[in-house]
Amino acid sequence: MGEPGTLKKLLEEPYLAGVMLSYKCTIACRHCLFACKPGNPNAVMSVADAVTFIEAFSRLGRIVHLSGGEPFMFYDVLLSATKESSKRGFPPHMVQTNCSWCKSDEIVEERFRALSDLGMLGMYFSADRYHQEFVPLRVSAVPSG
Ligand code: SF4
Repeated sequence: MGEPGTLKKLLEEPYLAGVMLSYKCTIACRHCLFACKPGNPNAVMSVADAVTFIEAFSRLGRIVHLSGGEPFMFYDVLLSATKESSKRGFPPHMVQTNCSWCKSDEIVEERFRALSDLGMLGMYFSADRYHQEFVPLRVSAVPSG
């Protein structure tokens, strides 16, 4: 994942646009700006609307990230929105996640690879004292070579 120049652009033109797929989240951080939590309605943006917003923000020159809530709760929508916006020539720059679903290296690799293959350019991990009240930090052994 990752497009050369994306980080450079982000630093030079820090104009982010977030497309919130849902207000539902796997956790309930004390600092959450949008009061996302597990008990929120199981409502998610349609793929068509997500693609429309991704394209519109991209045309404005924004760095577009998909977020929530926790977007990986709606993995099918995340995949389809990535695929369709990439087909139109506007792949999302990042998807933001709290990593609560990262239960094994196999699942992580499978999902990141699937998104990358559909055009997702990068990942955006939420990690701080508030998120880690819910999501344990885990260090995996990374194979060499
Ligand atoms: S992970 Fe993000 S969206 Fe979910 S509760 Fe925490 S700050 Fe809000």
